[in-house]
Amino acid sequence: MFARRSIGEKMTIFQKMILVPVLSLLLYGCFITYSYFEHQRSSAQIQELRQDFVPVIELVNDNIYLFEKLQDAFKGAVFEQESRWVNDTIGFRRQINFNLRELNRHPNIVEKTNILNLNNYFNDYYKSAVRLAKSLTAEQPQWSSEDQLVVELEEHQSATTNQLKLMRQAVQMRFEQTLLRTQMRQRELLFWGGGISIASMILLIIITYTVSVTTQEDMLTIVERIKELAQGSTDFSKRIERTNRDELGYLVHWFNKLSDKLEADYLEVKEISITDKLTRLNNRNRTDQFLPTAMEEARKHNTHLVVVLIDIDHFKLVNDTHGHLAGDEVLQQFAQTLKQNAISSDYISRWGGEEFLLVWTNIEPINAAQKANQLRKKIAQLIIEPVGTVTASFGLAVLTDNDNAKSLIARADDNLYQAKERGRNRVIIDQEARLV
Ligand code: GH3
Ligand code: MG
Ligand code: MG
Repeated sequence: MFARRSIGEKMTIFQKMILVPVLSLLLYGCFITYSYFEHQRSSAQIQELRQDFVPVIELVNDNIYLFEKLQDAFKGAVFEQESRWVNDTIGFRRQINFNLRELNRHPNIVEKTNILNLNNYFNDYYKSAVRLAKSLTAEQPQWSSEDQLVVELEEHQSATTNQLKLMRQAVQMRFEQTLLRTQMRQRELLFWGGGISIASMILLIIITYTVSVTTQEDMLTIVERIKELAQGSTDFSKRIERTNRDELGYLVHWFNKLSDKLEADYLEVKEISITDKLTRLNNRNRTDQFLPTAMEEARKHNTHLVVVLIDIDHFKLVNDTHGHLAGDEVLQQFAQTLKQNAISSDYISRWGGEEFLLVWTNIEPINAAQKANQLRKKIAQLIIEPVGTVTASFGLAVLTDNDNAKSLIARADDNLYQAKERGRNRVIIDQEARLV
């Protein structure tokens, strides 16, 4: 099954960094196109609004003007001929009524009740004005009832004037409110533009910050690891974890591959450095490391430790007689025999040339002497083509409290020398140990 990865893990650092500006640009593009059409639309709306309202406002204003004219005409009733004021007032009245009917066709702008009220007030005014005018122009005016008519007329006149002004106010207010609403829409667009730019800036900061922090953390981990290796750490097993498939993920992948290679090479070199090439036994380097540790262990557990130094007898003669390659073959088979006759806790190494050093732990000295003798016999029985048989001399040293690695080996070497001196193919162990 495929591991599920988040988009963030699949994207490169460059892609992540470029993502927000590109998205912002797209958003801006959409926004600018939208606001351009929106602006066009609201400009057309304002234009339409003017076309709707201007004639209504004109009608309302016209009524105010006509009403003033009508009042003047009635006032003139006292001075003019009857026929003249009647004609004038009828004309104005018709025009006002016509205007009111026109206004009635705009219920969205002028409320019906407003028109109805105005119509009523105006009719009342007109009736009382006619009555007063007729009374004043009569041949015998009745002054007592005219006072009453004047009061009535003034009431109707102010009610009509108020209603007319109210209508103008209401229409103007509606116009301004509608205009304001359209302008508010444009202002809202400006607000959205600002909002989008601030939001994309914040998003840019957040993404840049997150990418930088995670990238920096990962980079520092890589640097730390490289630093450790540069300072000589031989722990090549550490690997860096990074699932992202970005540039750093790529770097980490190859860094881990490099670590694999370094680890393999290091282990190989380490193995070579402690192994004898010809016999594949431990070499002297390894013995130098091993012996002091083994001695420490033996002392800690209060057990015996025996160093066995073995030297092939007359090996020079083997080389001289059969050649170096045959000599090598003897060394290899000799090593093989040592391995075959060892138990798991025995340490075997090539000390140098045709000399071998063994370390036996947790063994009684007397048993060590017997074990060495058995091994000596096994070697002597070994037939190696074309050389035939070889023998070896053994020098054993048992670890004492005063020993260090050097003194212990030196004693084994002395015993080996003794074995050679006494005719070779024999085992010599410390004087004291033999008595144990
Ligand atoms: P002794 O019984 O006294 O030990 O006599 P020896 O001939 O064994 O001792 P000597 O030290 O005189 O000779 C050791 C020889 O071992 C000399 C050297 O050429 C040979 N030799 C050392 N290392 C190797 C090796 O890796 N391969 C071969 N073929 N010969 C080696
Ligand atoms: Mg030798
Ligand atoms: Mg020898």
